[in-house]
Amino acid sequence: MSMQVISIISRRFLLAAGVVAAVCLLSSHLSAQTNIGVRLIPDSARISIELKGAPASSWSFLDSYAGIVGLGSRIEHFAAFDERGAEVPVTQSAPGQFKSANPVKRIRYEVNLRPVSRAADFSHLSWLDKERGVLMPLDFLPRGTGATGVGENRRIHFQLAAPWTVQSNETKVAPDEFAFTDVARASFAVGTNLRVSQTNVSGLTLNFVTNSDWAFTDADALQLAQQVLSAHRETFGSFPGKTATLVLFPFPLAVSASQWSAETRGSTVTLLMGKLPSKVAALAQLSTPLTHELFHLWIPNALTLEGNYDWFYEGFTIYQASQTAVKLGLLTFPEFLNSIARAYDSSKAEGSLSLIEASNRRFTSGLNSVYAKSQVIACLYDLRLRSATRNKHSLADVYRKLVRGAFPAGSDGSDVAGRVLSEEIGSNEFVHSFVQNPVSLNLANELAPFGLIVDSRGVRTQISVAEKLSKAQRDLLRELGYNAATHATL
Ligand SMILES: [Zn+2]
Repeated sequence: MSMQVISIISRRFLLAAGVVAAVCLLSSHLSAQTNIGVRLIPDSARISIELKGAPASSWSFLDSYAGIVGLGSRIEHFAAFDERGAEVPVTQSAPGQFKSANPVKRIRYEVNLRPVSRAADFSHLSWLDKERGVLMPLDFLPRGTGATGVGENRRIHFQLAAPWTVQSNETKVAPDEFAFTDVARASFAVGTNLRVSQTNVSGLTLNFVTNSDWAFTDADALQLAQQVLSAHRETFGSFPGKTATLVLFPFPLAVSASQWSAETRGSTVTLLMGKLPSKVAALAQLSTPLTHELFHLWIPNALTLEGNYDWFYEGFTIYQASQTAVKLGLLTFPEFLNSIARAYDSSKAEGSLSLIEASNRRFTSGLNSVYAKSQVIACLYDLRLRSATRNKHSLADVYRKLVRGAFPAGSDGSDVAGRVLSEEIGSNEFVHSFVQNPVSLNLANELAPFGLIVDSRGVRTQISVAEKLSKAQRDLLRELGYNAATHATL
């Protein structure tokens, strides 16, 4: 199964959010509040927004996100009103860019939430159909003006008619009303007859939200998420917050049953998934994005690092999450090796960019490097570190250090991750060769010292365990989930 996951939170933006939010706490009594009214128009896949806040005379809406462009044209019927409620003239310079002659406190507009992207990208934008939707303020509120600055106090009220309800990880202040400050982290699930179930994992409350029928029960999904969260907590040593929300919806458009798309924003994981008829297959399908996305609650979402270090928080995360999946029995060891082989195949042509350069071009040319090549390189790092320390240390130690480390505000994510990786392995040679500089991987040579054989003769690369292993090799592979007894029968 190919990984089709993008967790996008701009670290630069989040850092700014953190700093401004802290300032706002001290001066909240002085700052204006923006009130946002949201009315759903499910029949035409639109929402109507009414916004009241500090005076503004220009409004700019997000036009591109995660490589999806032209979002500004989704803003329709934009109108601005003066104190007496009279409509004032508005000019539009480009899709999603509006100006009025005088500052006003109240605007109203509609957002067309019909699908505009490929299904694989679908979780990255707000959408609405006749039964459900995901509303993410980042792409439907104006930005870049004084009235909608980062860290501003916002109240969002949903006008809902039964059986529609709303669920969110944001602070609920009244029925169908929430307070939030950070536009980039907020997410609201709306739907008819939403079902919400809850579990507690060592002090963290996890909410599961859906309104569809799956081959598994809500309790099955919640149990799986609980299992994964517990395993990740073991990796990191603590939880990044007190609550998290998992929203599971079907796609609002026809897709193949095996398709899924996921995004983690703040503490909310939104997962859109096709419907496989068998319970076992559907839970297996759920487990892949779940192990990856729940990892993002810590990395990068709980860190305040700056810059595009996607090579680390995506590619390395795929590897680390797959290790967790093996430990939980959600992935077999041969499947684990196979995922490394697939990642190698899809990225072996990528040699001209370092991982750091590729991260800066993630949505143009760097995608394969950010995900697949970084996954292979994470595996090489983990093998070398485990081997050098006789399995006393692993990549998990790097994650623990990152989450516990007090890095100065504004630190560059690539610098910090590179530094911790180097410290842990006792040399900066690995990061220099594999992360900071372009590299062409010779997988067979890289894996041979660990008792892994790479066969690249066929269309697809195969990785297998050597017939004869040294004790050190066997011990290391066992730590990764290799079991000689079961392996022999495969
Ligand atoms: Zn991700």
